[in-house]
Amino acid sequence: MKQIFLGGLTHRAIAPLWRPFLRGASAIFMLHRFAHRHLGDNAYAHDLDQLRGYLAFLRREGHPIVSLGTLLDSFDRGEPIERSVVFTVDDGYDDFLHVGLPIFAEFDAPVTLFATTGFIDRDCWFWWDQIDYLFRTTGRKSARVDLAGDVLSYAWTNPAERDEARWDLGHRLKRVSELAKCAAIDSLAESLDVAIPHEAPEWCAPMTWDEIRGCVSRGVEVGPHTVTHPILSRVDTERAATEIRGSWQRLRAEVPEALPAFCYPNGDPGSFTSRELAMVRELGLRAGLSTYQEYATARMLSRGVDPAAVPGRFSLPRFTYPPSHAHLVQIVSGLERAKETLRRLLPR
Ligand SMILES: [Zn+2]
Repeated sequence: MKQIFLGGLTHRAIAPLWRPFLRGASAIFMLHRFAHRHLGDNAYAHDLDQLRGYLAFLRREGHPIVSLGTLLDSFDRGEPIERSVVFTVDDGYDDFLHVGLPIFAEFDAPVTLFATTGFIDRDCWFWWDQIDYLFRTTGRKSARVDLAGDVLSYAWTNPAERDEARWDLGHRLKRVSELAKCAAIDSLAESLDVAIPHEAPEWCAPMTWDEIRGCVSRGVEVGPHTVTHPILSRVDTERAATEIRGSWQRLRAEVPEALPAFCYPNGDPGSFTSRELAMVRELGLRAGLSTYQEYATARMLSRGVDPAAVPGRFSLPRFTYPPSHAHLVQIVSGLERAKETLRRLLPR
């Protein structure tokens, strides 16, 4: 019932009604992977036709699609670009270059990329891809994982059950320290009798620095996203500083025109603290990006690093990439902002 009701609220004829709620607010979206032939059944990948559909809709409806740098400029001038939308793509996978960027280019839509510099340097690849690799590669049907003093046992008889084990472990690893996470992945590798290669396999490979510079020459902005992508609240102060400062220095050495806006791994409220906000500010960066599910507003830029005052300049919110057209409309029409008021009227 609620779904049908929301469907009606996002209908073409109704959606313009929410526009007043949107005043001064912009939607920043967060994307990751783009479906391509090497990726297989990776559930994280964005469907390309859906992305084309979203961009066509935004163009047709006259939403300005702007880069993050342009949005920050407009906010700092106190002249928000009404109904504007920003697309950001995290991590630095090469499917952005080969698959994602050409689609944004079709619609002349700017994009802002957040690069994990150790990944681009091929010094590391992501822990969730390593887990995926281990489960995909093994011939075994069970695993025992040592995780922070506990032993987790998994068994599967088909790919769906194996994926369930992978999701469960991935979920648990997001909640432990970096040290415990790395130890658990080593124990998984041993249990599955698979060695983790030093370099990322083709389906989860990074862009090169030359390729990133190529993106920049095509109008893409690029900002730092740590060196190795740890959850910053789960590492000590020295490591957090190295991850933030190191990624900015490395990025700027390779891409002098890099955007001085930092993006926190995970980005949810538990994944960074006022310590990280202060580090980003002290580094002279202009902004920080979180994954608070809200609109970004000019007013946020005047807020400091007080953890009680987030989202602010150093923790600007971003929406998860909309899973459906109705979700996209719900956000860009302003309905999401009006929802709090409307919720009382919606049938439960
Ligand atoms: Zn990331």
